[in-house]
Amino acid sequence: MLNATVAQLARALGRREISSVELARLFLARTQALNAGLNAFITIDPDRALADARAADARIASGERGPLLGIPLAHKDIFCTRGMLTSCGSRMLSNFVSPYDAGVVERMARAGTVLLGKTNMDEFAMGSSNESSWYGPARNPWDLARVPGGSSGGSAAAVAARMVPAATGTDTGGSIRQPAALTGVCGLKPTYGTVSRYGMIAYASSLDQGGPFGKSAEDLAILMNAMAGFDTRDSTSLERPDEDYARSLDVNLAGLRIGLPEEFFGEGIEPGVRRAVDEAVRWFEKAGAKTVRVRLPNARLAVPVYYVIAPAEASSNLSRYDGVRYGHRAAEYADLADMYRRSRAEGFGREVKRRILIGTYVLSHGYYDAYYLQAQKVRRLIAQDFAEAWRHCDLILGPTSPGTAFPLGANSDDPVKMYLNDIFTIPAPLAGLPGLSIPCGFDEAGLPVGLQLMGDHFSEALLLGAGHRYQQDTDWHLRMPRETPLDTGAGK
Ligand code: GLN
Repeated sequence: MLNATVAQLARALGRREISSVELARLFLARTQALNAGLNAFITIDPDRALADARAADARIASGERGPLLGIPLAHKDIFCTRGMLTSCGSRMLSNFVSPYDAGVVERMARAGTVLLGKTNMDEFAMGSSNESSWYGPARNPWDLARVPGGSSGGSAAAVAARMVPAATGTDTGGSIRQPAALTGVCGLKPTYGTVSRYGMIAYASSLDQGGPFGKSAEDLAILMNAMAGFDTRDSTSLERPDEDYARSLDVNLAGLRIGLPEEFFGEGIEPGVRRAVDEAVRWFEKAGAKTVRVRLPNARLAVPVYYVIAPAEASSNLSRYDGVRYGHRAAEYADLADMYRRSRAEGFGREVKRRILIGTYVLSHGYYDAYYLQAQKVRRLIAQDFAEAWRHCDLILGPTSPGTAFPLGANSDDPVKMYLNDIFTIPAPLAGLPGLSIPCGFDEAGLPVGLQLMGDHFSEALLLGAGHRYQQDTDWHLRMPRETPLDTGAGK
């Protein structure tokens, strides 16, 4: 059961082979046993999980069936959950119990999922390694001395270690796809505006997008069917008819044009990543897809552009944490200004402060035109590169990340080196485009490699279909991390 996909678990629940309460107990026991080593969860809530599971069992007993009814799930601790700590990985919110549910949390609850708890993350989703969390780093189940990626590292590690069959995350510059790649699971960053940002704590609002983690592309389609949809409470939510994200799972790859951007196959890619991705390209060619060379000439500017725009938006979004309305307040202060200063100095970590400083700098009078405005212009050029590419191909394929999971601390002294981890994941959100990461092999050290597929706006079903076809013929996505085998920890 622990290694089953959501699709398989739903079938077992529907046939009454197992109850939701039994399933919740199984995954809870494993989560509790493994979390001391992995630190994937900030909050584990057995009472909530069992209450949700009993409710799901009652719905099943009354004849109701649903692809997520009774399925255990974890939310990234960036999604507000009523009555539960919602910390965003920060000391600033380490005392914040949300009075309401995020749109995503509501939708998943309506679908009948069973909430096991909230997962670890980089502070305010700023990071690529989970090391900036106030709760300490989450660890990679393939090698506990290595990072799981970030910022949704806890969700990725939890799915990889089979603590939960599925989880949610958010991606601003790669935070779903990069940790999915580094932990050997699947993750989808949807088209901007597809998944509600209501109650999803804001980092960079023009980029932030929620999405699912799972073991297979098919599971991601099932999760998206529940997660996505119009929400009047999010002003950038798109009002479109509901779609079935599983509708293209049997897509015919023959004739599909897959673009290989030369910018994604250049220098700086680890040989193990290169080899696995090249092999996946050959698989798609054998399956009948046609590979074409495309160019994304401005992609090399994506990281610098992102590190102007994202901090600018963050500096504005994070101004709400003032120690007054909610969150951490300094115990001692001289006057009001001192209270703000001390509360923010104590509540935010180093990386968050760095971003606030950069953000206020690039927005300040005299620098706005030179940095922020310029970055917005280049952002448009990057989007135009993609628009041009879609005239020649249906999908773009490349590595998700230039390397596999790195040791804890390896990039801590060099923020730019850390930022370069996202060189292949940042372009898509700058253009609002969807991106999928699926496992495609291992490097020589036995660490998972992620393959990224990107498409035009609203091409999620096609991306998931291409991923599903690949997964019907390969089993990379079903491999288990060696540090968390099924027979250690509780549960089987
Ligand atoms: N690593 C990137 C950053 O630190 C992306 C994070 C994200 O997608 N939330 O901003």
